[in-house]
Amino acid sequence: MIRNPALISDRIRVSFEFFPPKTREHEGALWHTIERLTAMQPDFVSVTYGAGGSTQDRTLATLRRLAQRTELPAAGHLTCVGKSKAEVDAVARDYWAAGIRRIVALRGDAPAAQGRYAPHPEGYRDAADLVAGLTRIGDFDISVAAYPESHPDSPSPEADLDNLKRKLDAGARRAITQFFFEPETYLRFMDRARAAGITAPIIPGILPVTNFRTVQEFAKRCGASIPAWLARTFEGLDEDPATRELIAATVAVDLCLKLQTQGVTDFHIYTLNRAELTLAICHMLGLRSGLQRRRHRSHGEGMAEQAT
Ligand code: FAD
Repeated sequence: MIRNPALISDRIRVSFEFFPPKTREHEGALWHTIERLTAMQPDFVSVTYGAGGSTQDRTLATLRRLAQRTELPAAGHLTCVGKSKAEVDAVARDYWAAGIRRIVALRGDAPAAQGRYAPHPEGYRDAADLVAGLTRIGDFDISVAAYPESHPDSPSPEADLDNLKRKLDAGARRAITQFFFEPETYLRFMDRARAAGITAPIIPGILPVTNFRTVQEFAKRCGASIPAWLARTFEGLDEDPATRELIAATVAVDLCLKLQTQGVTDFHIYTLNRAELTLAICHMLGLRSGLQRRRHRSHGEGMAEQAT
């Protein structure tokens, strides 16, 4: 059922998330992926930052290369867990010096051995405090995390929304959600966010599930639920990556198309550093490569820029 037909739009915008590669081989694969995905003209791309800064150098190197070799607007993720304000600020300044003007500002998770999160004695208290700190360093375009099913540390869904509001009020321009698998999860969350007075864009984070076991583990930690139908879909496929791939694309495309029908126009795709799944999603959402768009225009076929 279409919730609000007036909202349906052809204007689709995508952003892509990558993780910094560990080996030369993975680095080559990532740049091949980036080359292919550039054709989708993403609104921005982002590079994750490993727990407590464990990928600090690799994240920065990837961002530098993006700034030097592409025209893609790039965002560096940055967490404040386990670091003093001075250490976190230094990383933000490195991003700025590398030409990076966008940051995804995050608190990060406490190391497993520590249990519950506690701020560093000289650190930022939480992501909202980090956002406020970043606005004092430079005119960054800041994004933050949102949790359609609430963050596990949150005492209630209302407190979680209050926390999101604090991050936006501190200077973030948009939020990107944790992954979810039912369109209603996101749509209900949006209703609650708008009712709470949050007007900033909240972009759904789309995760194509290629490795069900890993996602199941991760979902447990981050408070996302795995629907029974999804578990059934991957039953018996542990040793069959090719079939899992096809199902991953189908499930992610189905979720995106359902959201699109409800008027959602922006999608943040967790690419897993691979091009095919993301290209399939973009293509099904109606995006075409810049090359094809130009060809259609020059042949006077009267095609809309992002027509299907
Ligand atoms: P916060 O918004 O600060 O807080 C999380 C929750 O804790 C809140 O929802 C709130 O309920 C509670 N809380 C916060 N402050 C207070 C307070 N002062 N008093 C009471 N309760 C409070 N992790 C990485 O390590 N690297 C990454 O690159 C990375 N990228 C991510 C990208 C996206 C789009 C998302 C959704 C998550 C990402 N994460 C990443 C995971 C993130 O670091 C964890 O989810 C972390 O546990 C919370 O970070 P946050 O920024 O949402 O924290």
